[in-house]
Amino acid sequence: MTKTEKQPEPLNDPLLDPDGPELGDDFLALCGERNGRFVERLRAEEDEKRQEEARAAHRREHPLIGVLAIQGNFASHAAALTEAGADAVEVRKPEQLEGLDGLILPGGESTTMLKFLERRHFFAALEDFVRTRPTFGTCAGAILLAREVRHPAQRSLGALDAVVERNAYGRQIDSSILTAPSSLPGAPLEMVFIRAPRIAETGPGVEVLARRDGFPVLVRQGRLMAATFHPELSHDRRVHCLFVESVRAAKEK
Ligand code: GLN
Repeated sequence: MTKTEKQPEPLNDPLLDPDGPELGDDFLALCGERNGRFVERLRAEEDEKRQEEARAAHRREHPLIGVLAIQGNFASHAAALTEAGADAVEVRKPEQLEGLDGLILPGGESTTMLKFLERRHFFAALEDFVRTRPTFGTCAGAILLAREVRHPAQRSLGALDAVVERNAYGRQIDSSILTAPSSLPGAPLEMVFIRAPRIAETGPGVEVLARRDGFPVLVRQGRLMAATFHPELSHDRRVHCLFVESVRAAKEK
């Protein structure tokens, strides 16, 4: 240190006087009750801020993903999402879509699901949701997401640029387990098909990640994903991990 630099003045703070009062909690009593309450409020605000930061950090790592819980394997989907690093919540009312980072539309019977959605004005809320936020439709959920449904034709959300045919695999093989190569890193993927639909056509923006007999069974289009099989029924979590990753990516945008 050069001579020209000034030494900081020692703080002439009476509170730091070694003979002065202890600076523990008893000290607050010295400042009077009103001031004590003021300091308590500051502390509570600090606490609240810290908790808020911890919640935000948790949410960045563990996005909040809803699972439409009308019918089908919603509980298995929720468990799979948790294993894949997300927080999962069951969704039964349109207002529960608020605040979600992503959504899974599970398998089931798409006609039954449609009836439920139309009765509760849920359909319009879902149309809005899937237009802007990551959504993964599996089996009946993929049928709901499609641009066009055939065999027979039925109403759909029209988000995924694909034509889907219901119950397309015939009676004998209407439920089957197939292990086949996919674009996901690692071993071939186990795929459980239950009265599965077939993705008959896809638009140019749709990426095919796995096929069966030449037809797409796992696809991705921006923040949307669809599978004609049931990934929640296998132990392999790669498909759910891929969706959770895309939800994280969409959150960062
Ligand atoms: N067959 C059902 C439908 O058409 C879909 C089957 C499923 O989700 N496992 O809606």
